[in-house]
Amino acid sequence: MKTNNKLIVITGASSGFGLEMAKAFAKEGYPLLLLARRIEKMEALELPNTMCRKVDVINKESFEAAVREAEEVYGKTDLMINNAGVMLLGDIATQDAQEWKTMLDVNVMGVMNGMQIVMNDMKERRSGTIINVSSIAGVQPFGNHGAYCASKFGVTGLTRVARGEMSPYNVRVLSIMPGAVTTELLGHTTNQNIIDGYNEWKTSVGAVSITAADVAQTIKYAYELPQGVSLREIIITDTMQDA
Ligand code: NDP
Repeated sequence: MKTNNKLIVITGASSGFGLEMAKAFAKEGYPLLLLARRIEKMEALELPNTMCRKVDVINKESFEAAVREAEEVYGKTDLMINNAGVMLLGDIATQDAQEWKTMLDVNVMGVMNGMQIVMNDMKERRSGTIINVSSIAGVQPFGNHGAYCASKFGVTGLTRVARGEMSPYNVRVLSIMPGAVTTELLGHTTNQNIIDGYNEWKTSVGAVSITAADVAQTIKYAYELPQGVSLREIIITDTMQDA
């Protein structure tokens, strides 16, 4: 096993992309801080050199406390991956506003919390990387994705602004915009017709090959480029995805 000694923080590491990233980075010996609400899922991975903490990214205080605790053990955060997110699909005319709020809180405020927690240290050190997981729905519209698009266009926009703030300090700020990939994400949508329609579309166009592990490998690739190279924005989809 290779040994890498710089701390990587991954939010939303209890399933999907985050869980695959945790496994991929752990294989190369990186020390990790894994954050999500379902701590048992992260602990069950039994990864070496890894701290797991139950954190809701909306709560900046507990988010920051976990990062500082890990930094005491492993040194300063070199990579912050703001990946935690929720997708509750619905049309704007009828969807419960609480679902909009949940998406905006987790997907936007959670990412901003994660960035602020590490930005000042990274500026001081003139080194570090922040990777925000946006979505293809952060650059183009999709039906029933009103509030989700609002949140992910938000992530795309705030990442671009943060890149401008951080580039004079040699800190990379990247965003990745994946297309449809099978994970637990769709399962939180409360309208079964929308879930069925989404799955039918994916199957009918044949967009079923790409995996969460493919997305994790791509993020790892972007991070492992030299600090002086910024793969600013990555759109990654199944080859068969038609939109
Ligand atoms: P999953 O639902 O499998 O994973 C989401 C992760 O986010 C879970 O670990 C969940 O953990 C965590 N999470 C959710 N809310 C919170 C919160 N308030 N605080 C802390 N952690 C939270 O979905 P994906 O892996 O697919 O999604 C990861 C990211 O990728 C999301 O930002 C999503 O929007 C984005 N994305 C996904 C696409 C896809 O098709 N799968 C496409 C484009 C973007 P827990 O519930 O334990 O807290």
